[in-house]
Amino acid sequence: MTEEFELLVIGAGPAGIAAAVTASDCGLRVGLVDDNPAAGGQIWRSGARLPGSAQQWMGRLSDCGTVRLQGWRIFDCPEQGVAHAERVSGAGAQDDTVAELRYDKLILATGARERFLPFPGWTLANVMGAGGLDAMVRGGLPIAGKRVVVAGTGPLLLAVAAHVAERGAQVIAICEQAPARQMMPLVMQTMVRPGKLWQGVRYRWAVRQSSYLTTCRPVAALGDEVLRSIVLRRGDRRWVVDCDYLACGFHLVPNTELALLLGCRMEDEFVSTGEFMETSIPGVWCAGEPTGIGGVELSLLEGQLAGQAASGRTRDARKLAAWRREGLRFVQALREACRLDPQLKSAGTDDTIVCRCEDVRLGALRNRANWRDAKLHTRCGMGPCQGRICGGATEFLFGWRADSAHTPVFPALVGHLAGPRTAITIHRDLKETP
Ligand SMILES: Cc1cc2nc3c(=O)[nH]c(=O)nc-3n(C[C@H](O)[C@H](O)[C@H](O)COP(=O)(O)OP(=O)(O)OC[C@H]3O[C@@H](n4cnc5c(N)ncnc54)[C@H](O)[C@@H]3O)c2cc1C
Repeated sequence: MTEEFELLVIGAGPAGIAAAVTASDCGLRVGLVDDNPAAGGQIWRSGARLPGSAQQWMGRLSDCGTVRLQGWRIFDCPEQGVAHAERVSGAGAQDDTVAELRYDKLILATGARERFLPFPGWTLANVMGAGGLDAMVRGGLPIAGKRVVVAGTGPLLLAVAAHVAERGAQVIAICEQAPARQMMPLVMQTMVRPGKLWQGVRYRWAVRQSSYLTTCRPVAALGDEVLRSIVLRRGDRRWVVDCDYLACGFHLVPNTELALLLGCRMEDEFVSTGEFMETSIPGVWCAGEPTGIGGVELSLLEGQLAGQAASGRTRDARKLAAWRREGLRFVQALREACRLDPQLKSAGTDDTIVCRCEDVRLGALRNRANWRDAKLHTRCGMGPCQGRICGGATEFLFGWRADSAHTPVFPALVGHLAGPRTAITIHRDLKETP
């Protein structure tokens, strides 16, 4: 069976789901591709208890006629209108592990990932990303009775603390690196958004026994191979806390590799978009966290906006565009609240690992000129994660930013780099059974 899409949406988080449903409802033939086994992205991943609105979106996705390709990762866009995907889950016959997807229009809804910052001991077992721990708990990691410290920056800390506490973890402390005054604009923006306010109150209530410490950060994780305790710092005070898990994330880094590969214009680290989420490349829109970190509601709104615009419904899109402008105030306040304290740059020592794939330590990077120089001379960012973890750290530590992307944007089998042997053929069994 041969399939081509009028619209291809990459990423099945809230933004991609909303884009695909909206465009399908407008009559486009839509393909939705995502590298997870099920749709939902970061927040609605399987194992999560879905709120009513999420269930509605999932139901609409099942009913709307979008062709869903779950467990497939786009690793290359060799030319306008063509994307190459590799199967990342499930076994398949050799010919079914790489696919060529053809499209007239494209919406990038690739989300964001956590930023990790190196400090002594951060690579010990049981030190993990805040969202990472949350995902593992949803996936079945037993957390009841375990002592957890959540640290870093941003509202994700409170969300994760609440989720693990609801599953029986003992959350000892939530350590926010920002001072309270830096958080105030975000608090004000939250106050005027009843949904977010209610969510925040609910999360805080779930961890009402735990201390929430601003201007507080982890300076070391201690243990032999597994975490035993952490050293926290607040002002001049340092103290040791025994714990089983440290969930640590310093806000989010947008996934912009595909946008960079396509040549989309960027604004700082984000994809630059116009009023209707259009990028600088004709026929390519971008929605959700690659355009700015603003939470699930804004991702949904941007997805709908991009879906309408890609379907040519500019008049309907205008109303959503006005709502989005209002939502961008929250994005700005969140960005300001999560501004990283420069003191975090001195958390690591020369011996602290920065790139864990290639075992590159901080000392080896100090005299490098830029990201490219560091890659060439130390192999930093050249391992399996392709700089997705250390890139966020070196951007903050040294101000290095990758301003272009090279194919493959994700590691792919050498045999797949030229694309599939039979082009444009998507077999029916590649699709997710709803
Ligand atoms: C634990 C946790 C709790 C949260 N709690 C809240 C909350 O309470 N309130 C709130 O507003 N926000 C919350 N968030 C943030 C929320 O998850 C995000 O705002 C939202 O998911 C963003 O949606 P998105 O569609 O832009 O991106 P995502 O949800 O990240 O979806 C992007 C999808 O694209 C896929 N993808 C990326 N690149 C490719 C590729 N090359 N090929 C195929 N697929 C690809 C990714 O795997 C992912 O599935 C939380 C996040 C986490 C992690």
